[in-house]
Amino acid sequence: MLKYSKQREAIKNYLLVHRTHPTAETVYTALKDEFPNISLGTVYRNLSLLADIGEIQKLHIDNGADRFDGNLSPHYHAICKTCGKVDDIPLENTDFINQLAGIHYDGTVQEHRIYFYGQCSECSKNNF
Ligand code: ZN
Ligand code: MN
Repeated sequence: MLKYSKQREAIKNYLLVHRTHPTAETVYTALKDEFPNISLGTVYRNLSLLADIGEIQKLHIDNGADRFDGNLSPHYHAICKTCGKVDDIPLENTDFINQLAGIHYDGTVQEHRIYFYGQCSECSKNNF
């Protein structure tokens, strides 16, 4: 059983309220007024811990800082190649991909992770 931590509770709560897939640094900046003794390292460790125990999701972004998501329902992410914004993409019934991959795999496919890359609506507007 994990010892209760007021800081960890605040970190988790921040993620539940802010659906922007923040980095550890964004969470740290938002909470440091409330917790003057908190460090970026503490925030990152708590976020990773929460991800390890399945209370949040950790997103591994190519060439970028890890992002964190309090939304545990199955969904995908689109990453803007211009500004780095991470948006949700709700897609249902994608389990067939595991079966498809399983045809070419001697072992057992249990899950898959897909990131979509493109340009967000803001950046697309600015191009015109
Ligand atoms: Zn963008
Ligand atoms: Mn998400």
